[in-house]
Amino acid sequence: MALVLEAWDFMNTSQIAVLFTRELGKVRGLAKGAKREGGAFQGGFDAGSVWSVELLRKSEGLDLLTRAEMSEDFPRLRADLSALYGAFYVLELAGALTVEHEAEPEFWDAAMGALRLLDRGAPRDIVLFAFEAAAMRHLGFMPRVDDCASCGGKLPARPAFSPRFGGALCAACAPRDPGSRFVSAGGLKMMARLAEGAIPLESLNVDGRIGADLRAAFDLYWLNLLGREVRAARFVRG
Ligand SMILES: [Zn+2]
Repeated sequence: MALVLEAWDFMNTSQIAVLFTRELGKVRGLAKGAKREGGAFQGGFDAGSVWSVELLRKSEGLDLLTRAEMSEDFPRLRADLSALYGAFYVLELAGALTVEHEAEPEFWDAAMGALRLLDRGAPRDIVLFAFEAAAMRHLGFMPRVDDCASCGGKLPARPAFSPRFGGALCAACAPRDPGSRFVSAGGLKMMARLAEGAIPLESLNVDGRIGADLRAAFDLYWLNLLGREVRAARFVRG
């Protein structure tokens, strides 16, 4: 199964698609004649749709997509702008955190789970936080949030969050990372427990303040990990 992360037109009727497949990880493929009516690709790929694809792997350059059949399209998601922005965020993060031709089935399941929940009208921010936590777990870089990640000391109510130092910093250590950001200890703990898979999604209750703290903490985490902001993040803030 292949989730379309991005697709663009190429050479008249063809398309290039970046797919996140459950079996092969990320794949970049050329679909010749994808936009042709009655062709082998049902009119072409759209970001966020899910397909069963046949693929010829090339030793260099783009893989060749030979046939595709759509299996899921998330129609309700496309009719709700807030949910659609959430989906863009999931697709961008999935693309940024995956490697070509390296299968990551659990992370694929997490991305698909998030899109299905968004399509069902589940609360967007909670779905995204849970997906981001799953991504964090997948990467294995868990932040230390129960004491200071630098000196092991006790944390204040609003410690500094520093992905660079691996977690929360006490007041004395905070100045060591000018890029850190003050976030409530409660928000950071929720992020860490989510990443451990310790909080079931249904029981997660994120009020405005904790929500803002979680958004700020995840934004900073991705900024430090990717070296840039997630572009779609500006659509899911506040
Ligand atoms: Zn410290």
